[in-house]
This record gives sequence, C-alpha cells and structure tokens, in this order.
Amino acid sequence: MADPKRKDILAVVDAVRTLEGEGMVVRRAFPTARVDMVDPFLLLDEMGPQDYAPGEAKGAPDHPHRGFEAVTYILDGVGEHEDSEGNHGFIGPGDVQWMTAGSGVIHSEMPSRDIRERGGRMHGFQLWVNLAAADKMSTPRYQDLRASTIPVVERDGARVRVIAGEFDGVGGPVTTHSPINYLHVSAAPGADLTVEVPEGHNAFAYVFAGELTLPSQVGDGQMAVFGAGGNRVDMSATSGADEETEVLLLSGRPLSEPVARYGPFVMNTRAEIAEAVEDYRNGRLGVIRR
Ligand code: MN
Repeated sequence: MADPKRKDILAVVDAVRTLEGEGMVVRRAFPTARVDMVDPFLLLDEMGPQDYAPGEAKGAPDHPHRGFEAVTYILDGVGEHEDSEGNHGFIGPGDVQWMTAGSGVIHSEMPSRDIRERGGRMHGFQLWVNLAAADKMSTPRYQDLRASTIPVVERDGARVRVIAGEFDGVGGPVTTHSPINYLHVSAAPGADLTVEVPEGHNAFAYVFAGELTLPSQVGDGQMAVFGAGGNRVDMSATSGADEETEVLLLSGRPLSEPVARYGPFVMNTRAEIAEAVEDYRNGRLGVIRR
C-alpha cells in the first residue's frame, strides 16, 4: 500500500472582524481579500463569542437565500430560527441546523428571545456550502440535528465531533448533496492526531482556541487552506498550552463550476442572479408569517 500523503498548506490567513445582519460581530475566515472560497465552501463566519447585555443581542432578521446551503453550529447560547416555509425552532449548544436554501427561502436567524431580553453569551459558526447547478433550484430542506445525535470519537488526546461525512469509520448524521466532511476537533495540549481526508477533496482548518502545528503554526482566529493533493492532515496541539485547541476541519469534493454570487444568492451565471433578485423583489421567495 502506498504511504499516505500529507496535504500541503497553501496559505495561513487571519479571519477578518466584520459585522453581519443587524450588527452581529463575526470573525470571517472567508470570503476575504486573501481567500475567495474553498470550493465547495463559500463562507465561514465565527459568530462571537460575544456577551450581550439585556436588549443588546444582535442577529440577522428576515433575509433571503438561494442556490446553496447555510449551516449553523451553535457552541454557546440559543439561536431562534423562523422561515417562509413555516418553520420555527431553536438551536442550542452543540446543535446543528443544516439548511438547504435550494430554490429559495426567507429566514430570520436571531439570538433567542430570552437572550435578547435578558442578555447572555452567543458563540457559533455559519458555513455556506455551494450546491451544484443540478441542485440549486431543489426544494428547500432542513436537517435539524440535536447535539445528542452528533457522534463524538475520542482518540489520541482529541475529541472529534462528526457533524458530516466520516471520521475513523464513524459517520455523521447529515445528508449532504456532495461529499463533505465537517469535523469539530477539541485537542488536549500536546495531542497528535492524524485525520484522513478523501483524495481530491479541498480542505481547510479554522482554529478558534489554542494553537496547532500542521506543520505551519495556526493560531486562534486563523485558517489554514490545504491543497487538493494528498489524503491526510497531521495535527499537533501545541504542547504547554493551558487550554484545549479547538478547530473546525472541513473538506469537500470541489464542484468546479462557475460561481456567480451576489449577497445572499449564489448561482452559476449573472442571469440566474438577476432572476433571483427579481423573484425576491416580486415576493416569489415567500414571506415569514408571524
Ligand atoms: Mn441566513
């Protein structure tokens, strides 16, 4: 058997602090001036961690999406979600909402009413996953995954939550349109972990606590982007650190299609973007009934 090949790091970039929605503070790993996308991934935002005073919590009120998937992973706090399909629910610590916007939805993503009124901490992630041309106009779909349904694998001083795809033969609960691995790794100081990545996948690692050697150093708020070659990532959590290293490791088979993006719409052509804007303006993406 051929020796497994370690994936090369193309770049290590800093996330950029920015505001989203009505003024929610996020660290945006991409898109930035340095990294436009990591096909099939279009965006990664770390929301917070932010401690809100009563009446101060910010979210993203009613807005549309078409042509991709928006994936919310909450670590702290509770998110409240409503949409034009009539869904209304809450996403708590460790929960994931995998929303396929497909042909289009209008939704609202807010801290829970309790946190808006009394204050509290919010921390989580939003990931955008592109859909292939054939899936862009599919029927909107939700996969609501409670923390208890997400498998946790303990190995070599690390705890790996398998949100999508596979780690060590353990599969995550999400059904994806194209092959994707979404892993949350919590590594004790000094832990060494090898993660197999399918041949041909693009991949990135986003560190949000502690530090990793990959072998380049990647610290809190930084992302390492890997090349498509190779089939494994070797992670070492920096020895002597007094906290766990927290990292999201994502990989996916590139769609390799043209991308036309305009705000909340991601299609293949500018004509399709114009159509999405027109459909939204004419109310064809629906309304949230309250
Ligand atoms: Mn949204």
